Amino acid sequence: MKIVIVGSGISGLATAYSILQTDATADLTILEAGQRVGGIISTRSENGCVIEEGPDSFLTTKPWALDLCRSLNLENQILQTNESNRRAFIALQGQLQPLPEGFMLLAPTKFYPFLDSKILSAGGKIMGLLEAFKPPSDAVIDETLKSFALRRFGQEMFEKIVQPMVGGIYTGDPEKLSALATVPQFVEMERKYGSIGRAMLNKSLVKSSDSGARYSAFVTLNAGLKTLTDALADSIGRARIKFACPVQELLQIGQQWKLKTRNGNDFDADIVVLATPAKASSSILHTIDPELSAAFASVEHSSSVVLNMLFNTDDIGHPLDGFGFVVPELERRSIIACSFSSTKFKGRAPHNKVLMRAFLGGILHPDVFVYSDGDLIQSTLRDLRHYLKITNYPQNVWIRRWPNAMPQYNVGHLQLVERIKDGFARRERLIWAGSALTGVGIPDCVRAGFEAAEQVRKLTEARKEPVVVA
Ligand SMILES: Cc1cc2nc3c(=O)[nH]c(=O)nc-3n(C[C@H](O)[C@H](O)[C@H](O)COP(=O)(O)OP(=O)(O)OC[C@H]3O[C@@H](n4cnc5c(N)ncnc54)[C@H](O)[C@@H]3O)c2cc1C
Repeated sequence: MKIVIVGSGISGLATAYSILQTDATADLTILEAGQRVGGIISTRSENGCVIEEGPDSFLTTKPWALDLCRSLNLENQILQTNESNRRAFIALQGQLQPLPEGFMLLAPTKFYPFLDSKILSAGGKIMGLLEAFKPPSDAVIDETLKSFALRRFGQEMFEKIVQPMVGGIYTGDPEKLSALATVPQFVEMERKYGSIGRAMLNKSLVKSSDSGARYSAFVTLNAGLKTLTDALADSIGRARIKFACPVQELLQIGQQWKLKTRNGNDFDADIVVLATPAKASSSILHTIDPELSAAFASVEHSSSVVLNMLFNTDDIGHPLDGFGFVVPELERRSIIACSFSSTKFKGRAPHNKVLMRAFLGGILHPDVFVYSDGDLIQSTLRDLRHYLKITNYPQNVWIRRWPNAMPQYNVGHLQLVERIKDGFARRERLIWAGSALTGVGIPDCVRAGFEAAEQVRKLTEARKEPVVVA
């Protein structure tokens, strides 16, 4: 059976790799619009630096990406975060305040570090701690992240911690993001234990003493995440990947699929896997299934810009004794977050240099694409100087714009996912994998790829089953 996968981001590559693991001779082609594999995963190696223009690490608590690295024999290249300085900061009034030890995304797990923290006022801390005594909501509804956080923790904790921490991951608007789709573990804690505070007392739920995003669980690869997508492409076989093949339309002719590309080439397939972002999936599906196409089109996306900057260590007044910081909206700044890449991972920058990654844009700053490179550099430097006491200009700046790259799991997202899944269930031999539905992180994309491969396997095995003649 002829299998065509559209898109060579991590989702498409993981799909292809997994199919070939069980059938090395599968008739499989990947059609990629661009000139390289990896999609949003994009690493540059310049001036002695490892520059991540997209993602810089992945979670190991969701096992799929790590499993994939092991399967590709990349385990010896896995790079843990630095053991020292495993903490994150919140930017507040010109200062970087460390997240209290044991703080897990939304909620404190340790009493004294939370009380000791300078992030919240006494009133804000009391509201946060009273969460443990608040009754759970009776209504089982899909509420916004803001409504959930306000109801449980109060205004100050929402504005200073929840909005920048969770809003920052999705570069989204907490007034639209679905609590059920973005922080399901906390919604579940409220349902199961009555409150998040009481759930946190259950030690089995609290495994890490790191602050913020549990950095010990984040890893990358020595030479950057491109190592993973390059290893996948090599294992799949580069001859199977057709570059500069932007698929425009999918047609069904009898039992066969026909993929029409924008440059006039047609490809036939028995099985098609769309491993494309939601907007691209929407336009590819427009002719054969306007309803499914409209469902994909309704997934909102945010755009962002990543600025990597290389400084002399001596030009930074701040000790950079953490992995980075997030900036609450109430600070009214251009940057929404900044990672101290060379503190977070060894070998990211030469000796006596500091590499940082600043993020701008997101759903709350849709005008980010209007600005020129010069404007972006200026406003980023203005913000970084405000928090980090920077006394000089960076030696190098790398700017990468990501239009419509981050899907927004807004209220109603879970119903939308069901609608889309039903749509695919009606169309045998048409499969989807990607970040738009069931997880934006790399491990979730790998899982989506593995699941798509499993569906392909079932279809090909069904075809191979011998006809039993009575
Ligand atoms: C700035 C940024 C930082 C991030 N940081 C992290 C992080 O640190 N950790 C983490 O786990 N996740 C992170 N993410 C999320 C994660 O990187 C993405 O969700 C993931 O890489 C998406 O992979 P994908 O294969 O589904 O899609 P993509 O990477 O978008 O790949 C899709 C591919 O399809 C191709 N394509 C599109 N249309 C067509 C068409 N019509 N025909 C043929 N090909 C087509 C594209 O060219 C592309 O190669 C980040 C995302 C962004 C934007």
